[in-house]
Amino acid sequence: MTRLIFLGAPGAGKGTQAGRLASSLEIPHISTGEILRNAIKENTLLGQKAQKYVDAGELVPDELILDLIRERLSQSDAREGWILDGFPRNVTQAEFLLQLLAGLGQKYDWVLNLEVPDEVLVERLLKRGRLDDTEETIRRRLDVYREQTEPLIDFYRQRQLLQSIDGDRHPEQVTESLLEAIAS
Ligand code: AMP
Repeated sequence: MTRLIFLGAPGAGKGTQAGRLASSLEIPHISTGEILRNAIKENTLLGQKAQKYVDAGELVPDELILDLIRERLSQSDAREGWILDGFPRNVTQAEFLLQLLAGLGQKYDWVLNLEVPDEVLVERLLKRGRLDDTEETIRRRLDVYREQTEPLIDFYRQRQLLQSIDGDRHPEQVTESLLEAIAS
């Protein structure tokens, strides 16, 4: 049973690495960005509400995300463990998660912070070519990360379950370090 939270800037490799670990550990990979992109594609009510924020590189309002996470973590497959990718993204969300997990009688094992230099992030995001990967949105997403998400590194460091991993390496090497980190 493993429960992991991934932190890192846009382009740090959270999605790739969370996906690899999830298949190797056979637990769900829960990506709020992916859930939102699907909702937008399927034009659900959530998608309609979220689209303008995602397109602008802004965070979607907490009330939309918190309900979504509560429901997702209450599904039966999440009883066996999970990897959160893209949530929490600000202190309100992190505090909500602590309470939600307490209510579910669960604890996360590790917070894994992928570290990648800024210039590498921008280069990777420009190459990725997702719809919200225009130069302007990329700049905004990185600012939003610095302002709202980066403070979570200290938030979790104080709880002593944070491990930072060098994400500026070949993806296989990063996966290997992550697997070592969670085995410790
Ligand atoms: P990601 O795939 O994690 O890069 O997320 C893509 C976009 O989805 C972000 O730029 C936000 O607009 C939105 N998003 C994803 N996760 C969250 C979250 N936890 N809180 C608010 N907005 C989010």
